[in-house]
Amino acid sequence: MTDKSSSRYAPGGPSAERPFHLVSEDATRAAAPLQADLAIIGGGMVGMSLAIACSEHGIKTALIEAEPAPALTDRGYDGRSSAIAYGSQQVLKAIGVWDLLKDQAQPILDIRVTDGGGDQRDARRPGGVSPFFVHYSHRDLAGDAAPPQSGDARPVDAPPFGYIVENRVSRVAMFERLQACPNVTHIAPATALSFKLDAERALVSLSDGRQVEAALVVAADGRHSALRGFAGIGISESDYRQSAIVCTVVHEKPHHGVAHEHFLPAGPFAMLPMTDDRDDDGRIRHRSSIVWTEDPRLVPMLLALDDDAFGAEIERRFGLTLGRVRPLGPRFSYPLKLLVAEKYLADRLVLVGDAAHGIHPIAGQGFNLGVRDVAALAEVLVDARRLGQDIGSPLVLERYARWRRFDNLLLVGVTDGLTRLFSNDLPPLRLARDLGFALFNKLRPVKRLAMRHAMGLVGNLPKLVRGEPL
Ligand SMILES: Cc1cc2nc3c(=O)[nH]c(=O)nc-3n(C[C@H](O)[C@H](O)[C@H](O)COP(=O)(O)OP(=O)(O)OC[C@H]3O[C@@H](n4cnc5c(N)ncnc54)[C@H](O)[C@@H]3O)c2cc1C
Repeated sequence: MTDKSSSRYAPGGPSAERPFHLVSEDATRAAAPLQADLAIIGGGMVGMSLAIACSEHGIKTALIEAEPAPALTDRGYDGRSSAIAYGSQQVLKAIGVWDLLKDQAQPILDIRVTDGGGDQRDARRPGGVSPFFVHYSHRDLAGDAAPPQSGDARPVDAPPFGYIVENRVSRVAMFERLQACPNVTHIAPATALSFKLDAERALVSLSDGRQVEAALVVAADGRHSALRGFAGIGISESDYRQSAIVCTVVHEKPHHGVAHEHFLPAGPFAMLPMTDDRDDDGRIRHRSSIVWTEDPRLVPMLLALDDDAFGAEIERRFGLTLGRVRPLGPRFSYPLKLLVAEKYLADRLVLVGDAAHGIHPIAGQGFNLGVRDVAALAEVLVDARRLGQDIGSPLVLERYARWRRFDNLLLVGVTDGLTRLFSNDLPPLRLARDLGFALFNKLRPVKRLAMRHAMGLVGNLPKLVRGEPL
């Protein structure tokens, strides 16, 4: 079966080498360093979002990405779909990305969390699924979901919790948006190899011989950030000894916008609703994206199963709530580790996204944290620019680090705690968490707070998260 849902966007997307360059390739190689205000290392979803957010405000940006654009938007590169929280959707809308992908964004209307698997034949647990579950409905937040500081008095009529969007679709939309951005020089493929960071200026040397001189370097180079290591910023890391199997699946029944998460002994199993598409014969296909946490030793064997056997394994874990389930397209796996940078700043350097924090996907929040980093950093930089301040000065960057530290650490703690609490099958723990689930379901104010937090609407929100321009 082939997935045709994204035929609007040609695989490979627009060339990253074309319109973003301010100077020709030959000229750049031989010449003096390219001068920029901001050098963003890493053109993943976080790096691209930051470049777009800053571009309309006179901040001259060099966005440097190791992979060519066609590779980043190829179906074989990243099979993940991301739960984009309501607050992150507001950011993507404010920076002009959302309109380019909204037709392929599936609203999340309900979330059902269950302590147990879907196998009705599971002898260990008659009935398979624990009777205790948490049910979040977007209707519970009617008139309540608007960010409190928005200044917009109109009640919001039950917006969705967020949206499920294929990462590939988000990347294509970001590439398209970048083409219209003034002040961005997108250099790809090129790897940032060495850095000279001091109190005055930052110099970045690229694999193709070019150099970029900037007031500030942003490490958006992911969880294995070389830039973070170069700056001597330490990390705390913890291996969950789990891998996530990820792929798109088709199922017989419609999902009605419900996201499911089952806590199984090997870790959480999520079924995330995607937009329907059509098969080669024009028939509607109901699709979801799975994030299936497993013992890494089993993963190669599971990935190698044929479609029917793989589908049967999914049904064993998820049940037949959506009818028969079969995989669609390539399967991927990701080792799961927690990573926290000990600080976000060094001389003329700041960390964003996974370079600063890599969390378990149990709550689908990693990219959302990165988007909030982007919203806060862009606001800090644009404010500094308006006041005539040096955007790379410690005074300016401290504001960003202080702003983001608490939110990021809170999510690190919550996702880490949930993962450890639920990734086991010890009877006393199961009883305690099932009772906890039942109680939590009844505590409406606590539940509402948890929903608003997952939507990215709690705390001191940056303007972009509130849907306001910078
Ligand atoms: C299984 C799984 C499911 C997930 N689901 C969700 C979800 O539902 N919702 C959610 O919010 N988050 C989710 N996440 C987390 C999310 O995918 C990440 O937080 C996000 O992709 C991080 O983006 P990034 O741009 O910071 O880093 P990356 O995507 O890692 O991008 C880094 C970029 O930097 C480039 N680079 C690296 N080094 C250099 C260099 N020296 N020079 C130039 N370029 C360089 C790389 O090529 C890459 O393109 C999930 C994660 C996993 C593993």
